[in-house]
Amino acid sequence: MSTISQFRINAERLQQHINELALIGKIGETGVCRLALSKEDRAGIELVKSWMEEAGMEAYIDPFANLIGVWRGSDPQAPVLMLGSHVDSQPYGGRFDGAIGVLGAIEAVQTMVEEGMKPTCSIEVVAFCDEEGCRFNKGLFGVRGMTGKLEADELDRTDKNGVSRREALLEFGCDPADFEGYTFQEGRIGAFLELHIEQGPVLESMNEPIGIVTGISGPLWLTVEMIGFAGHAGSVPMSMRHDALLGSAKIIVALNELVRQESGAPTVGTVGSLTVFPDSRNIIPEKVSFTIDLRDIDIHRRDALEVELRSCIRNVADEHGLTYTIREDTNSEPRYCATWIKDTLHKEAGLMGMKPPELMSGPFHDSLAMSYVCDYGMIFVRCLEGISHNPKEYASPEDITLGTELLYRTARRIALDRGGLQA
Ligand SMILES: [Zn+2]
Repeated sequence: MSTISQFRINAERLQQHINELALIGKIGETGVCRLALSKEDRAGIELVKSWMEEAGMEAYIDPFANLIGVWRGSDPQAPVLMLGSHVDSQPYGGRFDGAIGVLGAIEAVQTMVEEGMKPTCSIEVVAFCDEEGCRFNKGLFGVRGMTGKLEADELDRTDKNGVSRREALLEFGCDPADFEGYTFQEGRIGAFLELHIEQGPVLESMNEPIGIVTGISGPLWLTVEMIGFAGHAGSVPMSMRHDALLGSAKIIVALNELVRQESGAPTVGTVGSLTVFPDSRNIIPEKVSFTIDLRDIDIHRRDALEVELRSCIRNVADEHGLTYTIREDTNSEPRYCATWIKDTLHKEAGLMGMKPPELMSGPFHDSLAMSYVCDYGMIFVRCLEGISHNPKEYASPEDITLGTELLYRTARRIALDRGGLQA
């Protein structure tokens, strides 16, 4: 695998930080629960803040509850190099999702501080608030707040106990009144780097410890409703049926075939939720609605598949005498990593004696929101069996060390070569 003779980062210190943070909100042997803006989240943030300070950064919490560590460069006007991820977790989550991106970034900066580097641009490490979105049913809150992309009703969203985001922020010590007057300064951030576990099985299947992300694929979310006619399962002859479930089943199978058409393509298609009416064993299904999740890093290929899928739905409806509606719930475009950052990652990995593969990200990350305000790059770390959002989530210390070393070397290279980060 790798021929690195020596790491510059302190792998032991990094691992200690990962283990110590995992004790906050610990569930079972290996899981964590640090819901956004909860007491556990606050405790985690405080601990991480203390490590930022130890590393040589000034740290503060902004009005959106993002924890930000600042290592000041000599030119305060130069666009900032930002590194980070999140430390909030799913209710039944793992120790590595988000956490390695924040703790790895702190380790990268601490290494640069310790070797006496004097950057021109400031380097900031951020633990973004509420990336996961499980508590208030909408994620990427902190990063969207910081970059000026919050929506109108955002503070009124409530969790399952009826606590609003506004109340939770106040409880956390952040005053939403401070949002007023906050505007994101276009151009303030020059580039963003995020280290994250892959949350999928691709790197493991390739036997590769780390990978360089090409982009984050945007999902197309549709809800399809097929409408037929209910009838007695014992009396209506097969030739006279309008079976909405049979039609839906054909579409589900067709979707699976469509996304597999191009071998080697990263296209994925999923039907994850289905509702049958009237849902009785002796009635022919009259109404079926189901969701479609279609993703691809190539928007043209995804668009072409959508056209084929829609024509398939029309054909199946004709064949079975059904009517249908298709609702578009989400349609996000893929967001590509900057070529110059990918090139730097490859070059630095090469100097480490590695040749990491490129892969796309199916899930979204804080980087997705950052991509709208600056160039970004991502490093993925292999995780066991692709398991994530689960206490069984696991990434080995060796793989995390490799990913963090690459993060450090790339950040250092960017800060040295593009100290001003001007394009
Ligand atoms: Zn994450």
